[in-house]
Amino acid sequence: MKYILLPEKSENINYYKANLHCHSVISDGRKTPEQIKADYMAHGYSIVAYTDHNMLVAHDDLTDDKFLALNGFEIDVGEEHHPKGEANKVCHICFISPENNHKMVCYHRTDNIWGNAAKYRESAQYDESLPDFIREYSANGVNAMIEEAKKNGCFVTYNHPAWSLENYPCYNGYEGMDAMEIVNYGCVVEGYDDNNGHCYEDFLNQGKRIYCIASDDNHNRNPDTHEDCDSYGGYTVICSPSLSYSDIFNSLKNGMFYSSTGTPVHTGPEFLSLSYEDKKVTLKTSKVRSVYFMTNLRYCQSKNAPFGTLIDGAEFEIKRDIKWFRIVLVDEFGYKAYSNAYFIDSLDSFKSE
Ligand SMILES: [Zn+2]
Ligand SMILES: [Zn+2]
Repeated sequence: MKYILLPEKSENINYYKANLHCHSVISDGRKTPEQIKADYMAHGYSIVAYTDHNMLVAHDDLTDDKFLALNGFEIDVGEEHHPKGEANKVCHICFISPENNHKMVCYHRTDNIWGNAAKYRESAQYDESLPDFIREYSANGVNAMIEEAKKNGCFVTYNHPAWSLENYPCYNGYEGMDAMEIVNYGCVVEGYDDNNGHCYEDFLNQGKRIYCIASDDNHNRNPDTHEDCDSYGGYTVICSPSLSYSDIFNSLKNGMFYSSTGTPVHTGPEFLSLSYEDKKVTLKTSKVRSVYFMTNLRYCQSKNAPFGTLIDGAEFEIKRDIKWFRIVLVDEFGYKAYSNAYFIDSLDSFKSE
């Protein structure tokens, strides 16, 4: 049986570049939602998820046949009463809503309003019969928020563990997210090591079958550098039959995407196809220097181009009883792309031939 994990581009299948984490003037970002749309489209993007802090304002009016605005918000909770604010551990999570669902969950009428968000309080949609939602920084407290979002049908991502100062004992108990940020480019620009492969594998090795995304988390507000300095560096490439909200949202829920990194003037490595058949993983890629094949065991592989040359794919034979594998590409300038992890016992959910 052949499992098509990432199909080749065809008449029926396209790949769309997305920034799944973004801040605008609706919270503490510097650009308007319209500016963000124009600037991202100029850099080859088709999708932006607007995830302002603790405020969901619908941006469906920005959607047209070349651009999709996903609606969502970023929720946060953290340690309180710590003597030094800069040592506080926090947890940030994005909730991306399904189509035509603008309802906020875990809503508090007065707390957790960042930046300009207070101006939009009146437009927030939430269940008015519920009391204010009290957040608590603990595994139970975070899981309660994730559960509310899942009940509402959201796509839930766990954000920037490095910036949050969270480590294994913190995130170990988190349950139910759909994905985590393997790269948060805004944090990279600020100097954090946000190459979160190890954290991702911690989740996988606990049996949490989650995906990984790369995002910008752009605020575009650094006055000392170019205003776009935290944009266009971390992105998710979504495989879908169309750019409609429902098709893209389904592709997110079904893991039909990969993540990559680059710069405004350099597109990072690309997966062109990925399949599994008879314990063999085959992939085609853009020109890269190395392909890494990683698993839950002390059993990984790599394929590397001889110095000064590049390769455009690889094949890996699996000779151990692995639970999951994932692939990382590195291009000639060192930029990386990341596949999701694939669990061998659940490949049936992927199209087969
Ligand atoms: Zn955040
Ligand atoms: Zn953010």
